[in-house]
Amino acid sequence: MTTERLSAFEAVNRYFADAARLIELDDDMARILTTTYREISVQVPVRLDDGSLIVAQGYRVQHNGARGPYKGGIRYHPDAGLEEVRALASLMTWKTALVDVPFGGAKGGIAIDPSGMSQAELQRMTRRFAHGIAHVIGPYRDIPAPDMNTNAQTMAWVMDAYGQGHGYTPAIVTGKPLGLGGAPGREAATGRGVIDVLAAHAERTGMELAGTTVAVQGFGNVGSFAAMHAAQRGCKVVAVSDQWGAIRNDAGLDVDAIATTVKAGAKVVEADGDHEVITNDELLAGPCDVLIPAALDEQLHQGNAADVQARVVVEAANYPTTPTADDILVDRGIVVVPDVLANAGGVIGSYFEWAMNVQQFQWKEERFNAELADKLRVAYAATAAFAESHSCTLRQASFAIGIQRVADASRLRGYI
Ligand code: NAD
Repeated sequence: MTTERLSAFEAVNRYFADAARLIELDDDMARILTTTYREISVQVPVRLDDGSLIVAQGYRVQHNGARGPYKGGIRYHPDAGLEEVRALASLMTWKTALVDVPFGGAKGGIAIDPSGMSQAELQRMTRRFAHGIAHVIGPYRDIPAPDMNTNAQTMAWVMDAYGQGHGYTPAIVTGKPLGLGGAPGREAATGRGVIDVLAAHAERTGMELAGTTVAVQGFGNVGSFAAMHAAQRGCKVVAVSDQWGAIRNDAGLDVDAIATTVKAGAKVVEADGDHEVITNDELLAGPCDVLIPAALDEQLHQGNAADVQARVVVEAANYPTTPTADDILVDRGIVVVPDVLANAGGVIGSYFEWAMNVQQFQWKEERFNAELADKLRVAYAATAAFAESHSCTLRQASFAIGIQRVADASRLRGYI
């Protein structure tokens, strides 16, 4: 069992090492794939509306680009340090390879708490950051997308800032507003995809989705759409949360109504309805069949993994489970559907949007959703088949498939 003192990047590389052993990856390739290709750290001074100045630090890490342009989100969060961004960039490499979209892996972030910042302040900060990384991004080089505390508006600002130097370039970012080349379906794609993957898992294991009880931690882009799609497919969503608290109703919550309330600016605990208010810790440890962490990193850890009552954990967030917690869950017979598979709907949707932008041809939402589900079904089936044939976990299988593809591409390109 590992200790909890691993950095996020070390933890992801622990997952890497487990999978690399399964495919007998050679040490030289492992050294290439457990380090990053390029890392940028830029100063982001922001003049606040009251005239004061904050000087934030922003990062863009490009992990591996053997299979295509670097691809990954940008998050605004106080914990968005270099180690975390490295970890998330490497997860993107394994994810894009696993679901077979022609991208590599990257991630970016600004270490800042954006809550309370005005739209004008956020726009100034985003533009400054975009100018700081403009020389290493591009529609065939590195394509950012939204992540925690960033959204379609943020991407519109990045697109405009980049366009000031390069001309109209919608394919520079994905997750854009519809009116600027965004794809119908992309906003919901990550959360919808989480449930597509859960449905594939249910079908393969004979689990009945109707009536399955689900708890979702985090009610932002990913968590809210995951909760709504779970309910649409007949699951009973019994608990949801955001950073301010959680609510629970064993008879099932009206997640559409909660989503409408939250979209209007309220907290989850302020939603109307018949529910009890609980803590986020109680949500994670509460009774449910399926637990969907859709908020932050390291939410399931040594201190609470033994309390999880769910039979299946579907990782909608990136790196929500530490290696120690993962060991505990596996020992307890709890199935973990790993982040690189469970939340890959986001990057698949981004690939569709990018392809539409490059071709200047818009798809209908029905096609988007059908192709999304299809790609996830194929990735789930490959992962489950590998796990069965190698007697390993879904996480080890998904990493192994991704690593093998990236190693093959890296070798073909002559990286070593
Ligand atoms: P978001 O900013 O839209 O939402 C985050 C949610 O988590 C909010 O409801 C916030 O209140 C809640 N939260 C924050 N701290 C919390 C805490 N301590 N306890 C409970 N809830 C808390 O972010 P998002 O885009 O939904 O991303 C969530 C996760 O999904 C991240 O790990 C992100 O990397 C991952 N992800 C996002 C996408 C995407 O397309 N947006 C794609 C793949 C993976």
